[in-house]
Amino acid sequence: MQKATAKEELVKLRKQLIGWSHDYYVLDKPTVEDAVYDVAYQRLIELEKQFPELITPDSPTQRVGGQVLEGFTKVEHEIPMLSLGDVFSKEELADFIVHLNEQTNADFEYNCELKIDGLAISLTYEDGVFIKGSTRGNGIVGEDITKNLQTINAIPLKLTRPVSLEVRGECYMPKKAFAKLNKEREEQGQPVFANPRNAAAGSLRQLDTSITAKRQLSVFIYYLMEPEKLGITTQSEALLELQKLGFMINPDFKVAHDMQAIDEYVDEYHAKRTSLPYEIDGIVVKSNAFSIHEQVGNTVKIPRWAIAYKFPPDEQETILRKIEWTI
Ligand code: NAD
Repeated sequence: MQKATAKEELVKLRKQLIGWSHDYYVLDKPTVEDAVYDVAYQRLIELEKQFPELITPDSPTQRVGGQVLEGFTKVEHEIPMLSLGDVFSKEELADFIVHLNEQTNADFEYNCELKIDGLAISLTYEDGVFIKGSTRGNGIVGEDITKNLQTINAIPLKLTRPVSLEVRGECYMPKKAFAKLNKEREEQGQPVFANPRNAAAGSLRQLDTSITAKRQLSVFIYYLMEPEKLGITTQSEALLELQKLGFMINPDFKVAHDMQAIDEYVDEYHAKRTSLPYEIDGIVVKSNAFSIHEQVGNTVKIPRWAIAYKFPPDEQETILRKIEWTI
């Protein structure tokens, strides 16, 4: 492909992706299926790989998705809240893991977790008391939603020990609560939410916290920040410690010691996906040892020690994929 043609396509792709992201993250009203967004995003990565000199700082590949809504106080994240790199086939997943393992020369130890389809939140505790909660926003600056988060039962207002720490996790709307909410909205002639993720995002970012309180949101915590302060050295250990501190963690995680175990985990939860009471859109595989996280680090947007395997889209999405992101 000629550079000039690539440049033209890149400009169109970025414009389209930025527009879709605005609908998704700011308005909580996606205008295309995630699979369509993902195909366009993968194409952007491909072209930028081919022509790295054409990468621009405002490219969606260089920044984390969201934006801060007017009306909320801004919170600067001391440690950026990143996204995750993603793969769409088991082959790509194996390539990523094998490459990471070779690069680090470490024992094969990966923590497999469910990829909860909600929105990322950060919670700060001082001497065991919940003092601040925020959205991911653009990864550097998020929205202060402390009061909204205080209404969620799954978030402990006081921990079992008086420790000071920051944790991160996913706020989501269970499938049942989503169905009930949309039914009510339909009856009241209000627009329905496209999916539980957007319903959760819309419910959490309410200036009137009594609305959030009614929405039956829940949370799974999956990151303990600065784990070394508690002497914790692996992700699986961190999850158990978070649970002891009073956080809700997703119990369906598993440490894998070979690629076959990762594969089996993917298959198991792909099959169980529809029967879970909450939405998942894939599996997250994380290097279990925090020493590896330090060794390989992060890009501006994603950690190099973890990857999200996204489940293949269903039939309807496949059709949309074929329609492509033609722009
Ligand atoms: P992402 O949702 O693909 O993955 C990163 C996020 O996964 C993290 O930020 C975290 O919130 C979440 N997560 C869930 N479980 C986790 C776990 N166990 N451990 C760690 N993280 C976990 O990335 P993103 O940047 O939030 O969003 C990008 C995706 O959003 C796209 O791939 C696309 O599917 C969707 N999107 C869709 C549209 C649209 O118009 N339909 C627009 C923009 C983005």
